[in-house]
Amino acid sequence: MTDQVLVPGPVTTRPRGPYVRLRDLERDLAARVDGEVRFDPGSRGAYSTDGSNYRQVPLGVVVPRTVDAAAEAIAVCREHGAPITSRGGGTSLGGQTCNAAVVVDWSKYCHRLVSVDAAARTCVVEPGIVLDVLNRLLADTGLMFGPRPSTHSQCTLGGMIGNNSCGSTAQAYGKTADNIARLEILTYDGQRMWVGPTGEEEFGRIVAEGGPRARIYRELRAIVDEHADEIRRRFPGIPRRVSGYNLDQLLPEAGFDLARALVGSEGTLVTVLRAELRLVPAPKAECLLLLGYHDIDVAADAVPRIVRYGPLQLEGVDDKLVDYERRNHMHPDALKRLPEGGGWLMVSFGADSQKEADAKACDLLKELKGSEHAPHISFIDDAKTEKKLWEVRESGLGATARVPGMRETWEGFEDSAVPPDRLGGYLRDLRRLFEEFGYGDASLYGHFGQGCVHTRIPFDLVTADGVAAFRAFLERAADLVISYGGSLSGEHGDGQARGELLPKMFGPAVMTAFERVKAVFDPGDRMNPGKVVAPYRLDENLRLGPEWTPADPAVHFGYPDDEGSFQRAVMRCVGVGQCRKQTSDTDHEHAGDVMCPSYRATGEEEHSTRGRSRLLFEMLNGHADSAVRDGWRSTAVHDALDLCLACKGCKHDCPMQVDMATYKAEFLAHHYARRIRPMDHYVMGWLPVWARVAALAPGVVNALAHAPVLSGLGKRLAGLEPARPVPEFARVRFSDWYRRRGTRGGGERGPVVLWPDTFTDNFHPHIGRAAVEVLEAAGYRVLIPPRTLCCGLTWISTGQLGVARRVLRRTVRTLAPALRRGIPIVGLEPSCTAVFRADAPEMFAHDRDFARLREQTRTLAELLSATDGWDPPRIDRDAVAQPHCHHHSVLGFETDRALLSRAGVRVEAVGGCCGLAGNFGFTAGHLEVSMTCAEHEILPAVRAADARTVVLADGFSCRTQIEQAGVGRQAIHLAELLAAGVCGTPLGDHPEWRASRRPGPPRVLGTR
Ligand SMILES: Cc1cc2nc3c(=O)[nH]c(=O)nc-3n(C[C@H](O)[C@H](O)[C@H](O)COP(=O)(O)OP(=O)(O)OC[C@H]3O[C@@H](n4cnc5c(N)ncnc54)[C@H](O)[C@@H]3O)c2cc1C
Ligand code: SF4
Ligand code: SF4
Repeated sequence: MTDQVLVPGPVTTRPRGPYVRLRDLERDLAARVDGEVRFDPGSRGAYSTDGSNYRQVPLGVVVPRTVDAAAEAIAVCREHGAPITSRGGGTSLGGQTCNAAVVVDWSKYCHRLVSVDAAARTCVVEPGIVLDVLNRLLADTGLMFGPRPSTHSQCTLGGMIGNNSCGSTAQAYGKTADNIARLEILTYDGQRMWVGPTGEEEFGRIVAEGGPRARIYRELRAIVDEHADEIRRRFPGIPRRVSGYNLDQLLPEAGFDLARALVGSEGTLVTVLRAELRLVPAPKAECLLLLGYHDIDVAADAVPRIVRYGPLQLEGVDDKLVDYERRNHMHPDALKRLPEGGGWLMVSFGADSQKEADAKACDLLKELKGSEHAPHISFIDDAKTEKKLWEVRESGLGATARVPGMRETWEGFEDSAVPPDRLGGYLRDLRRLFEEFGYGDASLYGHFGQGCVHTRIPFDLVTADGVAAFRAFLERAADLVISYGGSLSGEHGDGQARGELLPKMFGPAVMTAFERVKAVFDPGDRMNPGKVVAPYRLDENLRLGPEWTPADPAVHFGYPDDEGSFQRAVMRCVGVGQCRKQTSDTDHEHAGDVMCPSYRATGEEEHSTRGRSRLLFEMLNGHADSAVRDGWRSTAVHDALDLCLACKGCKHDCPMQVDMATYKAEFLAHHYARRIRPMDHYVMGWLPVWARVAALAPGVVNALAHAPVLSGLGKRLAGLEPARPVPEFARVRFSDWYRRRGTRGGGERGPVVLWPDTFTDNFHPHIGRAAVEVLEAAGYRVLIPPRTLCCGLTWISTGQLGVARRVLRRTVRTLAPALRRGIPIVGLEPSCTAVFRADAPEMFAHDRDFARLREQTRTLAELLSATDGWDPPRIDRDAVAQPHCHHHSVLGFETDRALLSRAGVRVEAVGGCCGLAGNFGFTAGHLEVSMTCAEHEILPAVRAADARTVVLADGFSCRTQIEQAGVGRQAIHLAELLAAGVCGTPLGDHPEWRASRRPGPPRVLGTR
């Protein structure tokens, strides 16, 4: 018992002041902090929300370059009395990282792995390091950080510490708090120290030293001593109590572990500057059991029996989640592996060898076979399939957020936890509560082995009645989980969503202890105010809310999956942050993903799909304090979209299929309506027209484009990147060659229209010629349109949508006779082919001919693969392929992969975007991002390829980027490779030299 310690009064209400002079604050931060200081509307809008239902526009954002710079930023904030909120990946679901405060973003620079002590199984990290990145850096040591939230590819260690994150592997390794050795912390008033478990001797020494540190230790000890019995009584002894502050860690029996006590304090007490983590050996082998039960309740009843076998992970998934994934066309192959049932458990075992892991699974199976509700069973010990199956579980949020034809669902009560042996009863009662409130669509899944239940609920968050029901439900649900001896939060933390409900769970004495602990560290409530203690109400600061009145403007695209509404389209982003992935997986379902190259290149929220979505949301001006006030004319939104490569990676890889390329085109159309556009829009947007002019005298145009002085001057005037050589126009266009040559071959399989896109026709006609050879050899009669047409791509990507519509109408009118006869249209350039398959029908949503165009447009691989009796020539080569990003996202590369495999080509298909992306890489000011994107995947892969390896790229942009990067290789199109096979051309070394004759010598960056 500590006598006579005066603890400051508890923090129970948020202070009204002090008044913060923003300009002075911004000036001082900019002058003193080594980092980026951003108080502009774009940054404030992009950081205005996280993964939660809440939204608060921050005062400004600081992106410190070093930990010391962050400490300096906090000092400046203190001098101005400004509140601060730390932010890592911003994936919190309770509103922890949105606040009317200065947001400190740790993720861009403060992400070093400082040291590793493999023998002691510890490492020291900065808070911005992403979990997957850390584990990859540790791979050589055979160690890893144990807890693994579903957001592992984008969540940071700082955020995991802030929230006391868990994930499925917490079953074996515990929560983040259980894996923290020490923390280096900084208090708002500037005390910086390392904290950890504190034995009595050390405690005495710290107190004896006196000073601010001694004060903190003394006061904390006094609070805990006073409330010890109540803490023991009110803290549920369950594996997943994440709500509240970890005061149990300060009890004598826990060794006064101040580091663990601060884990989960959500940035409301201290700032974490560095963390010493405990590591665990990564299991060398794993296996997975899928157990199918009659329903999810019965599955939950089986949990206690299974837990005894020490699984690595024990997760539950109900039939609704599986149904929603099916309806969203997610993971079709993995879902087929689920055994019969209406509720499933996924149980994994880890060990040093596969045999050992399998043996553990066998032990469990023996017991289950004799049990009352013996499940249907699938057993998997192939790592790739296991990973795909884990995706089924990990994409729960994305799958349930928006299901076609159903109400949207929201977080709010998404991670409650109960004792695992009471889980079945809890689920039954929770479902009854859902029914009572009309929320019966909510699915149930989660970390069942630890009693933690995930769900998204179809709350109505836009009407006053709906919000009242949301509140009433949360209060009742809180009572329910507490009646089971559970915790409001089992892994995501309290934030604003649960703060108000904590008294129900902990009672007045423990709440007072929380408030007094807050006062010890942050008496002025400047650290992430309004979260956990002295909280905002759970129904204020809502991202939507009854007062939300956004614009729903007339638009150019049809948004068929969003009821024709741009506003609904912009609302797709649920904040999961998958678009913030920094690394690309190689052995994962995400291998080959593209999203989001601009974030990977810049590390900036504004240049992620999520940041852009947020800004478009703000632009629709639904809230009185919207950060973006100037609508379509907004330069903040323009700047965020400027580095969007329009690669459509997000359309495919984002769990919500956010289609930022389309939104960008829409935005540009409105932004520049009735205004002079940047010069590059006229130059590159109108490329098909200039190409027709150039076709009159290509030699002269090439000479002028590459002439000294003239070329540089011309590029500058045209808004083009001076270092980029202008691609050479072909002497004879493909279409002119073909019209002169005419149709050949028997054509017994009937006609196909070969689409002479602008790039093939004018720059790489050899690819068109190769396609003709392949198609004729396959028995097709090749037709080309009677006159020069265009898909409108370049006008779409520059947002000149009125022209694009006219161009497309003309094209479809000309193609209509062929379309109505059912003749396939074969596209060679993926981006143009993707326009026919996606953009054009979305612009002309109710036009039959556009629907026919979508249905009848094929890639070369698709047409040939579906040709009965056609066999690819034997090629027998290794190949590195860069699937064009539109190929990946709209058309799909799988057919190409299968066809190449039949031809004996061993393909390594890289992900990411080549970085040129149509006009993007040619535009002045984009070179750095463009080349950084190229360095993510394709250029290293091409450099590593030996001379015999084929470099494949169907996209003109990708081929140009590879050529201009000066890696000594050129890429060829699938048509060229097949043509070489059909004609028996020996490929030898550097297959590109023999597979085709190019219009000119390769031109690399920096040359004319
Ligand atoms: C789809 C989805 C699935 C999820 N699945 C899981 C799951 O399986 N398991 C799980 O546990 N969670 C899960 N979460 C929640 C969330 O992803 C985790 O809590 C994650 O660890 C948060 O990391 P972050 O970097 O995004 O943190 P942020 O959201 O950026 O921050 C989290 C908290 O930490 C604080 N913080 C950040 N850095 C510091 C610092 N340097 N000092 C002090 N405080 C700091 C912040 O202020 C905030 O309060 C999920 C979220 C989503 C959207
Ligand atoms: S854009 Fe997609 S991946 Fe990114 S946060 Fe939003 S929903 Fe998630
Ligand atoms: S289109 Fe590409 S660059 Fe743009 S937001 Fe989507 S993934 Fe990122």
